[in-house]
Amino acid sequence: MACLMQMEKHRELNAFVTETQDLALQTAMNSDIRRAQGQAMGALDGIPLGIKDLFCTEGVLTTAGSHILDGFHPTYESTVSANLWKAGAVMLGKLNMDEFAMGSSNGTSYYGPVTNPWRRKGDNTRLVPGGSSGGSATAVAARMALAATGTDTGGSIRQPAAFTGIVGLKPTYGRCSRWGIVAFASSLDQAGPMCRTVEDTAIMLGVMAGYDPKDSTSVDLPVPDYRKAIEGGVKGLKVGVPKEYRLDGLSPEIAKLWEQGVAWLKEQGAEIKEITLPHTKYALPVYYIIAPAEASSNLARYDGVRFGLRVPGESLDDMYEQTRAAGFGKEVRRRVMIGTYVLSAGYYDAYYLRAQRIRALILKDFTDAFKDVDVVLTPSTPSAAFGLEEKFDDPVAMYLNDVFTVTVNLAGLPGISVPAGLDSRGLPLGLQLIGRAFDEETVLRAGRAIE
Ligand code: GLN
Repeated sequence: MACLMQMEKHRELNAFVTETQDLALQTAMNSDIRRAQGQAMGALDGIPLGIKDLFCTEGVLTTAGSHILDGFHPTYESTVSANLWKAGAVMLGKLNMDEFAMGSSNGTSYYGPVTNPWRRKGDNTRLVPGGSSGGSATAVAARMALAATGTDTGGSIRQPAAFTGIVGLKPTYGRCSRWGIVAFASSLDQAGPMCRTVEDTAIMLGVMAGYDPKDSTSVDLPVPDYRKAIEGGVKGLKVGVPKEYRLDGLSPEIAKLWEQGVAWLKEQGAEIKEITLPHTKYALPVYYIIAPAEASSNLARYDGVRFGLRVPGESLDDMYEQTRAAGFGKEVRRRVMIGTYVLSAGYYDAYYLRAQRIRALILKDFTDAFKDVDVVLTPSTPSAAFGLEEKFDDPVAMYLNDVFTVTVNLAGLPGISVPAGLDSRGLPLGLQLIGRAFDEETVLRAGRAIE
């Protein structure tokens, strides 16, 4: 009830594309009945959650933030959301997001931008919540939902979490099933939890994670007890600080926050080591080749026949063209063009293949570093949340937001952003912890020491 009231109160933030109040009240009531009857309760029984609109939800409109999915009511439920409902969670609705998860500000959504509930001190400018999981971040930060699902292809859980002062975890590639999640870049996409605390994140990840035979890239490993894992403390933990992340022109406030994070971990008994990740500088260009390449292929299915929007044309080809021209926004069209370009004969070797080779080197950098350290500490973003009107016309400036987060997706590793303080204008900033593959436990444990 409290969440539904907050949703009502903050409707102008535009966090939800679809609200499912009736369903929420019904499932919450069922949960109350179970409790009253002394029945076994699930790990998330009665917990109200928001679901990013990239997860297919059976019978409930699923838009991926795009006009092209108009009227798409899936006949199936994504594995991750199904896991949440099995544990008793309650769905409040579907959360706004950048179109097909392409963006860092939520500004590319067909359903309009989402506003960050935070404001700069003494300045009422509306700020972005980050993206692409901007609706998820705002819903949690403004107390509309106790937690939300997000997806992260290059930073879309961690960057909005940092911009709104919440916790966001991108699990290892393969930890959560991608089945039933609208695909952006299949070798990079992962679902993860966005919550108020590291403890909530640990609990929610435990429910979302697990092997799924319907996703051939999900990994058949037992899901650890993450809640227990966070109790360990960081005494004796080896924390790496990568020198390549000390970018030229790194803002002094971000540098100070990073030092503060180092100091907190040291005080609690962690051992700090400088490490090197030499191929870091190639990560952004590599990401912006691989992600659009995969997206151009994944988005080929939106042809006006199988899903959503159809704009009639004079011939079949004309119908395809009209539908795609009307259905996709500017950023999506830009990515499809970049993707088809880097995959086309004559350019494939120069761009796509080379990017794949460098991707392997980026992973090797991490594998080498993790011989000496258990976890890596970096800032989550190069700045705090920016204004709703800034950066919108400059895609390259927007892409630079992902400088600290994309390496983690390229290497398939787990990464968390935890709120670590406020900048001089009173806006939240986050620190990121990166771990070995399938070692979310250490990432969460170290995150707990900072939050
Ligand atoms: N901002 C990045 C992009 O636009 C990452 C998006 C994401 O992680 N889904 O591609």
